[in-house]
Amino acid sequence: MTEPAAATDDLLLRLRRFQSDYFPLHQQRFQDLVTEGQHPKTLFIGCSDSRVVPYLLTGTGPGELFIVRNVGAFIPPYGGSHGLHGTTAAIEFAVLHLKVERIVVCGHSQCGGIRAAYEGVPDEAVALKSWLKLVSEALLPVHQPGPEALRRTEQRSVVLQLERLMAYPMVRRAVEAGTLTLHGWHYIIEAGEIHIFDARKGDFVPASQASDCGTGPYQPYVEHDGQVIGD
Ligand SMILES: [Zn+2]
Repeated sequence: MTEPAAATDDLLLRLRRFQSDYFPLHQQRFQDLVTEGQHPKTLFIGCSDSRVVPYLLTGTGPGELFIVRNVGAFIPPYGGSHGLHGTTAAIEFAVLHLKVERIVVCGHSQCGGIRAAYEGVPDEAVALKSWLKLVSEALLPVHQPGPEALRRTEQRSVVLQLERLMAYPMVRRAVEAGTLTLHGWHYIIEAGEIHIFDARKGDFVPASQASDCGTGPYQPYVEHDGQVIGD
């Protein structure tokens, strides 16, 4: 074995540490995921914010989450972005090919994307400016939103994105067939707690008091056996 080249780059050191420390402990798991392929049951759509750490929040590891992240955890309208949209492509792939059983849309407290939707962005940020229109329906009629208005907007956005997901034909089909459920979460960074959208209550409920991890935007829906769920 040759000695590794000296490294002062912190990120490079972390890459080496992954291979030397973490990988040997989980090698079989990675090998199985290569041999058998990935079969994640959850599509996690989260904000790009560095403080949102999906694996930590959900206690998951390799192979368990199919993840797409973007500014604000927004869902573009189905068929409305002329084919060049990574988030739309990921949703189509996860539902049609991976056949995920859950889709989580995870917004969070202190979201810079939501704040920017109120405050505006530099003219040069052409894509960001148009991207933020995906939350405009959730904005409140205030010019200088305080903490409470921002929190409400973050939650309203999650529900709006769930509704937009339901306009994806493959999503609606799977939800109506009872093979897919939609979950809206609002992660409170400073409290270390997820608040879960409960369509029955029309509100977000702390995970510590919730009886499930989300009811999606519409219910009741009819399961395989014709039983109506959620009345
Ligand atoms: Zn955010």
